Amino acid sequence: MSDAQPTDFDPVEPNTGEDFEPVEVFPDSDDFDLRPGADSCYKCSVCDTNCPVAEVDDDFPGPKFQGPEQWRLKQTDDGYEIDDSVMSCSNCMRCDSACPSGVPLSQMHNTARGEYVEEQMDKLSVEYVRNRILSNYRLSASIASKVPRLANFAMNFGPARWAMEKTMGVTSERDFPEFAQQTFRQWWAARGGADASRENAIESRERRGEPAEADKKVAYFHGCYSNYNTPEVGKAMVHVFEYFGYEVVAPEQKCSGTPMFANGMLDDARRHAEVNVSSMSDLVDEGYDAIASCTSCSMALRQEYPELFDIDGIEDVASNTYEAIEYLRIHEDVKGEIESAEVSGELAEEFAYHAPCHARNQGLERQAVELFRDLDGVGVEDVGDSCSGISGTYGWKEEKYEKSMEIGDEMFEHMEHAEGETGMTECPTCAMQMEHGTGYEIRHPLELVEAAVVE
Ligand code: SF4
Ligand code: SF4
Repeated sequence: MSDAQPTDFDPVEPNTGEDFEPVEVFPDSDDFDLRPGADSCYKCSVCDTNCPVAEVDDDFPGPKFQGPEQWRLKQTDDGYEIDDSVMSCSNCMRCDSACPSGVPLSQMHNTARGEYVEEQMDKLSVEYVRNRILSNYRLSASIASKVPRLANFAMNFGPARWAMEKTMGVTSERDFPEFAQQTFRQWWAARGGADASRENAIESRERRGEPAEADKKVAYFHGCYSNYNTPEVGKAMVHVFEYFGYEVVAPEQKCSGTPMFANGMLDDARRHAEVNVSSMSDLVDEGYDAIASCTSCSMALRQEYPELFDIDGIEDVASNTYEAIEYLRIHEDVKGEIESAEVSGELAEEFAYHAPCHARNQGLERQAVELFRDLDGVGVEDVGDSCSGISGTYGWKEEKYEKSMEIGDEMFEHMEHAEGETGMTECPTCAMQMEHGTGYEIRHPLELVEAAVVE
């Protein structure tokens, strides 16, 4: 990783979605044969030098071994067992974008990890049970959010945290994120759901001089964290899209599967993906686009699902999924509106912005800095290209905690050198790590768009 000081990025064209192609390997096969990917590897080791885990963990052999080399070993030796080091890959996917030869490394890692967990991991081991609980965050969060005050107290009660670390291997170094008193979906339902959104969108179109019947509609994939922990992000998404004249629906949905991929729980991920694809594909058929406010959720829907699963409608959902700000930059003059806006009050701040690894994989790493460059009352400084180090559940594992913080060191240092003491990112777990490493409050770019153009 570079230890250069952060600099302003040059403007780039918005990602139109046209260049984004999920890696397809033998697209007509149900077996997802990885041979062409493995054969494309010419052993340059660029992926290894871009792997944040390999940089801090001498026992981790790196993405080249986890992907093409292990795949070849598997093909030439029937008795070959997947190396357990695949469980140390955090699924940050940085190796995917680093590989000059287009080897589908994360697809290979996810496939190998799934096989390791399915066939080799002891299902009664503490590691398996811990990983299953961590990767099914949606289940724990849905229970905890029924009694948020009690859950917030219990989850951060010192003796309980000590016991969780000793018995389950969940680090006691981190504070559990707070559960909201009202989830996004409760707020959405109380507000009137899709009917209220349609009325608001029509009003906005009239105000904007657009035809009332304009076909502007999006299906919001809010994910678990915006629902249970940061509903303010989901509310900002709804307010901003309605402001631009879009009708929003919030269809039935489960976890995107991101923490499940990273823990090799592919059966769980598939069950959730089936629900998500089913509800989203019906809406895509009706002309909706799928929008996510979390870059790992949009990554799952547009790349990991078609790479790993064969589900009816998956390709349509993948090719009609966007990250929220990416979508606005493609379809609306959001930059123009922001340039003529001014933010005062709570969000009139200097922000230290971190681009999540999964935003980089989608070509979105510069969008927040560019978008807010000319916004009066606000400064947004990019803190460089390093990984935050938490990678979802990786940094919550007791045995990985120190490595996670070592990976995050460069980002913490750059945040501390940046002006201001508020962070910004699109990824909820990067936000946890940023807050944990610096003590800063962390906001989502959608909240700043809301403050600039809606409020
Ligand atoms: S960067 Fe790509 S081509 Fe180079 S070693 Fe890694 S997988 Fe092989
Ligand atoms: S996904 Fe990230 S942690 Fe895993 S091998 Fe690739 S770069 Fe390393």
